[in-house]
Amino acid sequence: MSLVKLTGEEELIRLIKLLSDRGYRLIGPVLQDDVILYKEVGKDYRFPKGLREVQGKGYYRVFTNGKGYFNYVHGFYSPKHFLHPPVETLLKVEPSLKQNTVIESEPLALIGIRACDIKALSILDDIFINKNSHPDEHYKRKRESIFIVGVNCVYAGDTCFCGTMGTGPFIEEGYDVSITEIGEGFLIRAGSERGKEIVEQLRGEEVGEKHLKKEKDLIEKVREKTKLDLDTNDLHKKLLSKLESPSWNDIEKRCLACGSCTMVCPTCFCYEVRDEITLDGTSSTRIRSWDVCFREGFSAIHGIPVRSSIKARYRQWLMHKFSYWFYQFGTYGCVGCGRCITWCPVGIDIREEVKKLVS
Ligand code: SF4
Ligand code: SF4
Repeated sequence: MSLVKLTGEEELIRLIKLLSDRGYRLIGPVLQDDVILYKEVGKDYRFPKGLREVQGKGYYRVFTNGKGYFNYVHGFYSPKHFLHPPVETLLKVEPSLKQNTVIESEPLALIGIRACDIKALSILDDIFINKNSHPDEHYKRKRESIFIVGVNCVYAGDTCFCGTMGTGPFIEEGYDVSITEIGEGFLIRAGSERGKEIVEQLRGEEVGEKHLKKEKDLIEKVREKTKLDLDTNDLHKKLLSKLESPSWNDIEKRCLACGSCTMVCPTCFCYEVRDEITLDGTSSTRIRSWDVCFREGFSAIHGIPVRSSIKARYRQWLMHKFSYWFYQFGTYGCVGCGRCITWCPVGIDIREEVKKLVS
């Protein structure tokens, strides 16, 4: 068994301090503007306590119930926002600069990350590094300096479907430290050598069979809740025969092509690169920013869009997530986080759309 301790609330505070002492910039869940967001926090950070979150189709609310620390899942930010940020400077060209490439890679601790988002990180790793014949130095350098404190979900939102996609709710790998809230305390587990060095310094009791069973029972309940009546075996192949389904016409009547789903998705990675040149021509900055496949011009070749209808653009998005991605990278591009359902302004539910297509 990996190193695991049963601790109290005060050790959550010590965990933050230990990370801060090691020079990590800390990113943790914070309640702001009525949403729980991942945000930069200081060394005095406390996990928000007693918050309960409700998510549904185009619906998000947080309220206080005073119970526990982890009765919420995630807001619209995901780790992607910190590793592949919405806007990023790649290169600066000025006569006085010795080094042109700009790479920001200060050590970052991502705190409170859930299993689906950790899986999404491994998918981004494949895209930017492992399965990329030209690994992205900007992503790679940031990724190397990240410390992950995961949280195993003992509560699931109504839009979560990690149990279906096989990505959660328990964090199997890809973390340094994980936390499970089990009522009588927190199980804090080390998932790496760096994590072990931290967990060894926390005060805690020995973990018994009853604690592990409690954890397992809580996790299994969440797994069951997040399992849909959807067989994901060969889903990528089944969907290929649905390119002319009438379902796409129905989606077109509802979808606004706003791209909100792609912004919140932890695996959507498309971007554009542009050079901004000063008027006097003495310097230039190369900037990368997210792009959106729902934009008409996204697919333009010689100025003419290949996917000119919303139907074609939604189809591209869904098919990429659940079919083409599999052929490109060997996994689905969806981790079942449910964000695109919650943050779609017209409440389009990707679970229902996939089910309709293959039923
Ligand atoms: S599915 Fe929803 S969020 Fe995505 S582009 Fe259409 S309207 Fe916007
Ligand atoms: S497609 Fe939707 S549910 Fe799947 S990972 Fe992206 S945001 Fe989450």
